[in-house]
Amino acid sequence: MNQASPIILIKNATVYSPKNLGLVHLVIAGGKVVYIGKKCPSLGDELAIQTIDAQGQAVIPGFIDGHTHITGGGGEAGFSTRVPPVPLSQFTRAGVTTVVGLLGTDDLTRNTESIIAQVYALREEGLSAYCYTGGYHLPPTTLTGSVKSDIVFIEPIIGVGELAISDHRSSQPTLNELLKIASEAHVARLMTGKAGILHLHLGDGERGLSLIREALCTAEIPARTYNPTHINRRKALFDEACDLAKQGCWVDVTAFETGDVGYEPAEALMRYMGQDLPQDKLTISSDGGGCLPCFDQHGHMTKMDFASSSSMTDVFYQLLDEGVTMEACLPFFTSNVADLMNFKKKGRLTLGCDADLLILDPKMRIKHVMAQGQWHVFDTQIIKKGSFEE
Ligand code: ZN
Repeated sequence: MNQASPIILIKNATVYSPKNLGLVHLVIAGGKVVYIGKKCPSLGDELAIQTIDAQGQAVIPGFIDGHTHITGGGGEAGFSTRVPPVPLSQFTRAGVTTVVGLLGTDDLTRNTESIIAQVYALREEGLSAYCYTGGYHLPPTTLTGSVKSDIVFIEPIIGVGELAISDHRSSQPTLNELLKIASEAHVARLMTGKAGILHLHLGDGERGLSLIREALCTAEIPARTYNPTHINRRKALFDEACDLAKQGCWVDVTAFETGDVGYEPAEALMRYMGQDLPQDKLTISSDGGGCLPCFDQHGHMTKMDFASSSSMTDVFYQLLDEGVTMEACLPFFTSNVADLMNFKKKGRLTLGCDADLLILDPKMRIKHVMAQGQWHVFDTQIIKKGSFEE
């Protein structure tokens, strides 16, 4: 296999764009998909071409992980619990070819500067990477002094978050404070065509999504601006989120274990699919690199764990194993996220899109991973590693 090959022909691929395109052939050049068609194109011997025969197996867009702590999260049980930066292959081996990084509880020892630096690091290593400004708290940590100017002037910054609500670690924003920050994101969206969303961390608190409902009743800011995540951590929260989706909010399931109080991620997605809800408004993300602390009733941490993008991939496999069709579940991992993030060249396999794709094996497990036209995983082996990986 010639990794430097500038042109790759993938023959006999059953492409899910996420729509099933049937058996087609693809040509990849310059990091883009430059041909998709039923007829196998003839390419001259003069060109250095790598040919892969997919033998009818599924070829799907690379996953977009829209909530990941790329700098490492954590730090909630002392400085030694700060999670280190997430290495490249943790994403690619999970089939994730695009990430959106963010800050959580620790938006003090970690800041917007460090997250942007990590975005650039991942880009140098071949991944598509973006980030949010801000973090759990108010006033938000920013690079330029305001959320609006961060989104407008800093290319990788596409929104603000994860601002925490209904959580003991939150700054407890008032309705007015929430509206102010949402308006900045919304106006920045109008100015730039970026996502311009307020990505909201939901904690375990009983208040759930009440603040977002109030915001929708009070102000003219469009519903798509408010993007709650971790909606499956409590059952009542999930039901509230389904109602918000009907009102036009995109809502995000997290691929973490919830226990009995919530819905496990695959179950949450299946519940959503089973209802008369806008199927284009649901996404899933991993919370990778973030810590998963458990607290007792007094707010004391009892246990610490941390998450990885592969938890999202496990959910994907689980859905397929349960008999959910590829066309039904793939958008939650790909095109829905791209639409929310306003990534025009991501999340779909179409002519001219970025060559971010996964080739699956007959058991529907990830076999090859390509990001921007370069193989990162080939025959389940990681062939491209981050700078400090073994
Ligand atoms: Zn969170």
